[in-house]
Amino acid sequence: MNPFEYRRPCSVAEAAQWLRDDPEAKLMAGGQSLLAAMKLRFAAPSLLIDLQGLPELTALREEEGGLWIGAMCTHASVAASLLVRRIVPMLGQLAHGIGDQQVRNRGTLGGSISNADPAACWPAGVMALNGTVCTDRREIPADEFFGGLFTTALEPDEIVCGVRFPRLQDAHYLKFEQPASRFALTGVAVARREKSVRVAITGLGFGICRWQAAELALSGSFAPEALQGLRLDADQASGDIHASAEYRVHLAAVLTRRAVQNILKPTAAQATNQTVTL
Ligand SMILES: Cc1cc2nc3c(=O)[nH]c(=O)nc-3n(C[C@H](O)[C@H](O)[C@H](O)COP(=O)(O)OP(=O)(O)OC[C@H]3O[C@@H](n4cnc5c(N)ncnc54)[C@H](O)[C@@H]3O)c2cc1C
Repeated sequence: MNPFEYRRPCSVAEAAQWLRDDPEAKLMAGGQSLLAAMKLRFAAPSLLIDLQGLPELTALREEEGGLWIGAMCTHASVAASLLVRRIVPMLGQLAHGIGDQQVRNRGTLGGSISNADPAACWPAGVMALNGTVCTDRREIPADEFFGGLFTTALEPDEIVCGVRFPRLQDAHYLKFEQPASRFALTGVAVARREKSVRVAITGLGFGICRWQAAELALSGSFAPEALQGLRLDADQASGDIHASAEYRVHLAAVLTRRAVQNILKPTAAQATNQTVTL
């Protein structure tokens, strides 16, 4: 690892000023992705700005009928929150399935969506629920926030403060885990609103995406049968040593059907366990 300076700001404004002063500086949340990238020398920041301990970023509260989750809320805190369970239960379920307890204790919502790993779980939840990403200077709808592989709409000196989610019971996230890391080999979040359905797929290899054909079919008839014969093109996925592109799009279809089934009729097992075996 290259040498670097480490600082903890007293406020988001101070962190933003440090980012503006030093273009080589980087924000650190739990360090779960950033420190690994630094060890591999994919990143070599001159200054690490540690966001831990900033009360502005750790709030988790009911807001305007929905939910506000601060950027520095850990996956573990979201998974344990009764408020989350009451307002948007899918998010508690999604957070509970991330990595292992140690990863959940350090990893954060803000770090996950800013990193935009193509196999991460949070982007699927934010996209399906049509969450609004709030930064130190603007509000960005989910559709405009994610830009593909490790790419977001964030400016280099922009700080995610939190995400606003609408209240929603009818939503479900399912993933087929990559067994070593527990990232999603493929993961699907389905969210059903009064007049529309959103389906977000993670793990296909090119970043989070929506499956519009499935959304259209489910908006007409919210039932697994509506998805009969629907399949993403294999060129919308990439293959690697863990799974071929064909296998990933197959998983996407199976998981979408099961997520719909779960929203219609959750079973005790499905409601608590978001990982599936085919
Ligand atoms: C073994 C292992 C297993 C995992 N399994 C899963 C899994 O199953 N599902 C899953 O979704 N994820 C998984 N993860 C990812 C993990 O849960 C974290 O979400 C992810 O690594 C981001 O970590 P972090 O929050 O510590 O952010 P960091 O690593 O600190 O930061 C990540 C990036 O985001 C930037 N950043 C951080 N905070 C902000 C902010 N507020 N504003 C702007 N930019 C910011 C940083 O500068 C950096 O570029 C796993 C990670 C590990 C190590």
